[in-house]
Amino acid sequence: MNVLLVYAHPEPRSLNGTLRDFAIERLAAAGHTVEVSDLYAMNWKAVLDAEDTTGRLDAGRFDASLDSKHAYRNGLQSADIVREQQKLMRADTVILQFPLWWFSMPAILKGWVERVYAYGFAYGVGEHSDVRWGERYGEGTLAGKRAMLVVTTGGWASHYGPRGINGPMEDILFPIHHGILYYPGFEVLPPYVVHRTGRMDETRFETIRNELGERLDTLQQTQPIAFRPQNAGDYEIPALTLREEIAPGRVGFAAHVA
Ligand code: FAD
Repeated sequence: MNVLLVYAHPEPRSLNGTLRDFAIERLAAAGHTVEVSDLYAMNWKAVLDAEDTTGRLDAGRFDASLDSKHAYRNGLQSADIVREQQKLMRADTVILQFPLWWFSMPAILKGWVERVYAYGFAYGVGEHSDVRWGERYGEGTLAGKRAMLVVTTGGWASHYGPRGINGPMEDILFPIHHGILYYPGFEVLPPYVVHRTGRMDETRFETIRNELGERLDTLQQTQPIAFRPQNAGDYEIPALTLREEIAPGRVGFAAHVA
């Protein structure tokens, strides 16, 4: 299969850099084709702005959504955005790899999402009406593809446990899993998280390599997170609230996992 690894770390000799090289080798050895978007090495432009289109709708006022729609529809997107969209379309599986920075992805990767996920490509897809709210959350341009996060954290696993002070890791990653990956259609695999990176030695590093290797070997068999599809009956439309009889009494992020 084709795997796209989108990687965000400024230092090739970091732990992340070593794990990236390991992942590329492991996937290639298994016969997969691997494409890498190494965002720092590419000097990826992280900010979404009027430079992202070669033909604005209105020269006097840039509109982040409508100019994106216009540029996507009319072949006016900047070339770096088009290249990344093409990589996404070629991929069967996409891996986003990054260190957790301030409880989220590094800004350069967030900027990749903002710019590459154009209107008409990742959002604003399908019929939007009183009976249908587009193709998203389980449907959309990237449906049929899988995605997985590889994340490293300074904090310990217990800090991210069910009652840990940082909040549960599945809650912290929910906006990425559900909002960035499930929204345009990906099936989202459970993440591979390396905690407490400050406490690393050769033995632990070997264990991490083995665990990550196992996750890479089983990308096609791993059960995705059971997010609820938007258009399969669990949600009232157009309120887009879970129906009363679905997961009664459950609220918050967890309610959206079946
Ligand atoms: P490195 O610093 O490169 O390495 C970590 C350890 O692994 C080092 O001991 C290194 O010697 C060892 N190592 C590296 N390569 C190898 C190898 N090949 N073999 C054996 N050992 C190796 N953490 C949180 O938990 N939550 C946050 O919100 C958060 N926010 C942050 C915000 C910022 C701006 C920054 C800079 C850090 C933040 N951190 C946070 C910590 C951050 O997540 C970790 O520093 C990061 O995940 C470590 O990954 P790295 O690739 O940079 O590791």
